[in-house]
Amino acid sequence: MGARQTNDPAGPTPGEEPSAAAAWVDVWLEAGPEGRLFTYAIPNGLRLHRGDLVRVRLQGRPHTGLVVASHARRPEGLEGKTAQSVDALVQQAAIDPSWQALIEAVAHASHTSVFRCLRSALPPGWLGQHSVRAAASPQPWIGLETTDRAVAASAEGASEQQQVLLQHLLDQGGPRPLRLVCGVDGFSRSLVETCLRHGWIRRSTMAAGPQGLRQAAPTSSGRGGEAPRQPSPSQRQAIAAITGAGAGASLLLWGVTGSGKTEVYLQCAAAELAAGRSVLLLAPEIGLIPQLLDRCRARFGATVVEYHSGMGEGERVGIWRQALQAGSEGSPLLAVGTRSAVFLPLRGLGLIVLDEEHDGSYKQESPQPCYHAREVARLRASQEGAKLLLGSATPSLETWLRCRGPQADTRLLELPERITERPPPPVRLVDMRLELSEGNRQLISRALMERLQRLPERGEQGVVLVPRRGYRSFQSCRSCGAVVQCPHCDVALTVHRHRGGHEWLRCHWCDHRQEAGRRCGACGSSAFKAFGAGTQRVMEQLEDELTGLRLLRFDADTTRGRDGHRRLLERFAAGEADVLVGTQMLAKGMDLPNVTLAAVLAADGLLHRPDLRSAETCLQLLLQLAGRAGRGGRPGEVLVQTYSPSHPVIRHLVDGRYGAFLEAEAEQRHAGGLVPFSRACLLRLAGSSASATATAAASLAALLREPIDAAGWCLIGPAPAPVARVAGRSRWQLLLHGPAGSALPLPEGARLREGLPRGVSLTIDPDPLEL
Ligand code: ADP
Ligand code: ZN
Ligand code: ZN
Repeated sequence: MGARQTNDPAGPTPGEEPSAAAAWVDVWLEAGPEGRLFTYAIPNGLRLHRGDLVRVRLQGRPHTGLVVASHARRPEGLEGKTAQSVDALVQQAAIDPSWQALIEAVAHASHTSVFRCLRSALPPGWLGQHSVRAAASPQPWIGLETTDRAVAASAEGASEQQQVLLQHLLDQGGPRPLRLVCGVDGFSRSLVETCLRHGWIRRSTMAAGPQGLRQAAPTSSGRGGEAPRQPSPSQRQAIAAITGAGAGASLLLWGVTGSGKTEVYLQCAAAELAAGRSVLLLAPEIGLIPQLLDRCRARFGATVVEYHSGMGEGERVGIWRQALQAGSEGSPLLAVGTRSAVFLPLRGLGLIVLDEEHDGSYKQESPQPCYHAREVARLRASQEGAKLLLGSATPSLETWLRCRGPQADTRLLELPERITERPPPPVRLVDMRLELSEGNRQLISRALMERLQRLPERGEQGVVLVPRRGYRSFQSCRSCGAVVQCPHCDVALTVHRHRGGHEWLRCHWCDHRQEAGRRCGACGSSAFKAFGAGTQRVMEQLEDELTGLRLLRFDADTTRGRDGHRRLLERFAAGEADVLVGTQMLAKGMDLPNVTLAAVLAADGLLHRPDLRSAETCLQLLLQLAGRAGRGGRPGEVLVQTYSPSHPVIRHLVDGRYGAFLEAEAEQRHAGGLVPFSRACLLRLAGSSASATATAAASLAALLREPIDAAGWCLIGPAPAPVARVAGRSRWQLLLHGPAGSALPLPEGARLREGLPRGVSLTIDPDPLEL
């Protein structure tokens, strides 16, 4: 084997290789965090090109690596050595120049090496050392498909849920792997077993890999081919604007939940597919994928593929290969996925859609690269001449600002009304300060209690949001609602508690610290405490307070596994409980017609998070929650408990005027010189030794101070991270601020890492979401 100790990952200049004569290849292998190049001989009969994935041996172990260069003659430095040869070609042309350009742009923007970006973008386990399991030939999958008797199932007494499963399988146009049906599709094993017993479905074996997920021909027996809806006038306008937009255009589709955004995506996708171009449709959370897939498959059948972290490695590789063929040899595809799908190498891409574009889950925080799928999509659209469509009921301030002013680069399209023309449900406030002064110390106000208790007799259901993040995080006065703010910044101070029970307050923005007071500085009341009691305790307390009501809990603990979300929602939809109590996830994309009441236990936990974007994310969440009530025939109501009824976010929530909020918020951030009117970058250090990490943070700060000053940026810190120790690792951070649109005043990522002591890692997070 010819190990050439080079760390230059950028690959050769294009057009270098007279490939017919190539006898040697440089292969990039996972060795060390940044990968390394090694030279191998090409065995007779194999023709290799730059961009191919090959299997080789490194120190006796099988690896998959990327061919980055080829040579006709034995490279210098290898003369006289015995060279190993490539074992096999794994994937021809895995990487094409335009895709490589995208990865290089992402690497540049995120100050991360091309190798790390590649490894993060490619399907997991594809590049790198082989596990024994992955190297073995793939086992066939067990598939499920409907039998001829499925059509008669309803006559044979199939339950509603059973029929949903049958229809789902019919829509596939062929067998579907059992593990996906019971995984991401969210059907239970017992449901599958029952349908098998009745003979409505059967098992079959499927080849693992791409053929497995490639369905049979579309549009036989109602698979795909569902007719588009007759668009409303505003939908028609939006569709015309999108289909008529030029290559590389960006558009924002702003419409409340239920206004028909998805229908617009589908009709625009249809136009692209008909023109032979592929489409990417992204959702922020894996829990939203199944319903989106269902709607896409009903219309486009076998043209639809999925790609997300809920799938196994083999499945992801299969879809990746299929994407490589789309457009060139194959027919165009509609790929539905989460943020990692933004890298799917679909050729001939015509349209990228990001649904719920404001959602923070589009941002990857670790591992590196810290990318935002929206920004990658923007890069991709402009490089490949695709259109970018961002959809939301509550657009991010960033995207909204891009639609305004003389430099607007995004076109705003609006869907002002729900399709049903039913007005959004009214929002009512419960002033928890009054509750307290009238002697109610419970978590549930009397108004909310009364409404909850009426639900069962009316056959209606309610959802109660317990804001999890930020619980117990700030100090507030129960009598007057005052919250202790940082004297230097416009954020609430966070309560920290030492082991002895001693409490102190800290600003995560500027690192200001002070003692926690015993009395309210505004009114002198002694009802002045750390707010909140922890999710677990809140849940227990609710169970006490809500006797007689059947509760279901919906949070990270009760929705484990890939289908946890869906299963729990199914149980709730089936009427197993009167009230669904849960954390943030509750607000996302849930369509339950029987829900007439949506309530927030204490909005304050969201309002006063120590984050510059807390107002924006809070209002987005509350509006989303409000959208859950009254989706069926009966009118809904939203009840918000708060100690701060005059907080601007609460006022905008009651008015339901998100646009007015954005105006005010933009003005405020502009005045304060805050993002997006400035830029930020977070450098996160972590290490098992507290002192080594602290020292590394200090020397990194010393190293950076000069270039940062010179660029007109400023450096805050080093300071311990908001959560200063995680899993035994100490965490420190440096926060950088600078003018909007300016480049980060940082040397290359590799140079920054050079000086770090062993055991301390550095993550560079440009434009972090939480500040
Ligand atoms: P959103 O994505 O904005 O929440 P959807 O596209 O899901 O909205 O539409 C909400 C509901 O209205 C869906 O049940 C959808 O099938 C229906 N719908 C959307 N557009 C139309 C239309 N033009 N005519 C009739 N029904 C429609
Ligand atoms: Zn007070
Ligand atoms: Zn501060």
